[in-house]
Amino acid sequence: MRITIQALVDREDGKPPTPVVLGVVERKSGGVPSSGLGLFIRETHDLLQQLQAVLLLEQVAEFLKSATCCRGCGHNHATKSTRALVYRTAFGKVKLHSPQLYSRCARCKFSASKNTTFDPLALALPERTYPQWAWLQCRLSSVMSYRLAQIFLRDAFPGGRALGASAMKATVRTIGERLEQEVQRDIQSTAAACRGAAVPIASEADLNRIITLRSGWGR
Ligand SMILES: [Zn+2]
Repeated sequence: MRITIQALVDREDGKPPTPVVLGVVERKSGGVPSSGLGLFIRETHDLLQQLQAVLLLEQVAEFLKSATCCRGCGHNHATKSTRALVYRTAFGKVKLHSPQLYSRCARCKFSASKNTTFDPLALALPERTYPQWAWLQCRLSSVMSYRLAQIFLRDAFPGGRALGASAMKATVRTIGERLEQEVQRDIQSTAAACRGAAVPIASEADLNRIITLRSGWGR
């Protein structure tokens, strides 16, 4: 038995949808059901990885279609070069082609950037890891060791195959530093607001309530 899994990509351009083969599942005839039925985990990983690659490449192609157009006249900015940009997700990493464009439009002379060239995809993706993938790494690393988290992610997600413990530590550090900066910003804005506002004097009942709450938190 042979089952081919396809994705139909409809680009909404009036053309018929394009079929893309995601994978093939084969089983020998006469297999014993007691040995297990259905998909292997490895097969689901391969299928998800292929589907993710198709989706990402289509999304990038759609984005670049509009991002490479001049905002002045709609003409495409000239391409200087193209470089590879690796984007990491729970369902695998995908190499994206990111064009470097000349900022100045050859037709209407509109300049899309202060620099001579600009890279719209790199600008749109300052972080090269999908946020949910970074969240998963942080979530697991917060409740178990990096080594155990790495083993779990490697077995559960296609993107975990190439995930090293050092990469996870770097992701956790980056997210931690960002949270710390957000907390510091909140503290500074709250302090600034308090300095500008008159602080009401708490009544005795309020003070008792605060003391009760603090002792409860302490317990
Ligand atoms: Zn133009």
